[in-house]
Amino acid sequence: MADKSDLQLSELVQQVVAAIETDKASYGEFQTHPSVKSDQSRVSEVLKELTDRLENNFPYFHPNYAAQMLKSPHPVAIAAYLATMIINPNNHSIDASPATTQMEREVLRQMAAMFEYPEEFLGHLTWSGTTANLEALWIARELQPNKKIAHSSDAHYTHSRMSEVLGTTNVSIPTEADGRMSLQGLEDELKKGEIGTIVATMGTTGLGAVDPLADIIVLAQKYGARVHVDTAYGGFFKLIAENHLAPETARHFAALKEADSIVVDPHKHGLQPYGSGAVFFKDISIGKFYKHDSPYTYFISDDLHFGEIQLECSRAGASAAAIWATLQIFPLTEQGLGSVLIPTRTAATNWYELLQQSESLQPYQKPELDILTYLPRVQSMSKLDHVSHELLVQLGQGPREGQIHLATYVVKPNQLSQRDFQMAEDAKTARILRSVLMKPEHETWVPHLNQRIEDLASKLIG
Ligand SMILES: *Cc1c(COP(=O)(O)O)cnc(C)c1O
Repeated sequence: MADKSDLQLSELVQQVVAAIETDKASYGEFQTHPSVKSDQSRVSEVLKELTDRLENNFPYFHPNYAAQMLKSPHPVAIAAYLATMIINPNNHSIDASPATTQMEREVLRQMAAMFEYPEEFLGHLTWSGTTANLEALWIARELQPNKKIAHSSDAHYTHSRMSEVLGTTNVSIPTEADGRMSLQGLEDELKKGEIGTIVATMGTTGLGAVDPLADIIVLAQKYGARVHVDTAYGGFFKLIAENHLAPETARHFAALKEADSIVVDPHKHGLQPYGSGAVFFKDISIGKFYKHDSPYTYFISDDLHFGEIQLECSRAGASAAAIWATLQIFPLTEQGLGSVLIPTRTAATNWYELLQQSESLQPYQKPELDILTYLPRVQSMSKLDHVSHELLVQLGQGPREGQIHLATYVVKPNQLSQRDFQMAEDAKTARILRSVLMKPEHETWVPHLNQRIEDLASKLIG
């Protein structure tokens, strides 16, 4: 096997642009219309202005950015996306995307196998986790129009918003001190006989908590409810669950195969740019709900076009190509993409241990994946809010090389006491700190981040 090295993005980009230009030229020359011609140097000026303006961003690619769910796509995804975008296929129909529809089928099979789904399933890529979840909730409503949808109070707000869009009633189930859905709370609701579908989240957006899916499935079977799993954030952790997550967490990841539908976002832990979600359904008969008839779509081939089984119409073939190429380099195995996730998980567990020994900081709860929440050791909620905010602001200032970027997370008094923090309730809410450690480089960066935050926290606490 060839040596691994830092990739030269510009070389990869040159390679694909040249190849696509050659491919285009093979169809014969034609004159570009004058209306779309422009002055090369003017375009270059505009692009210069663009890249200047793009300096106004946070360094999402850098391990000093330990804030929200943001990181750069992998160079293989960038080059593949760019190459395909020049042609701009539309995975709505096979005729608009013969090559990339095939790639999409391949990546869907790989992802379905990761979840241990049956070989026959219905699924497709989507623009985002939101559209993927909307689709799963829409099918939930079509199957059981008069029933409610239950999710935990920590589920992504997309579920309550999309329930509103769909005109379904949603029920919010409380969470336990570990951020997971309360099974008792769920059963209390199920007993009323009104829940049609339970949404379990594997990796909540705020805390990275994993709902107890294996137990939720048992309850769902007992009360005749369906189960939809939102793994938009956490889905790819399935690759490392057995050997690198807590046994209890792994038990719930192992239950994914029992779910009626699953959503995952390759633009989160799949090294992809935005515009990349996916939804899977176990029961292929739900395809009937997608039936549509329109005089302007063109389905020449008899094979199934993605446009026949998705809510969206146009969808970038480039997204499918980017995932396809990425999974050639990082297959969905523990040694493949899993090797990118293991260090993110190690970063979170190592930092958690440092925080337990820290004099100025403390963990909010034990991380289940790679999202860590923590707070200064203070006595009141107002002080907590103030110090957290100052840490966020002050660490993000100054010369670029010294900046550290963190996020905050809003908590209520009951959430603090649920986790045994003793604090004067002199404010209704308070901000704590939150770091999504989704870059493998965070593995070695954590001591540095911890030191800088600790030092400033001690000063601010006084
Ligand atoms: C990010 C996320 C979503 C929303 O997905 P988008 O791709 O941002 O639309 C939904 N659920 C969970 C758990 C998420 O982490």
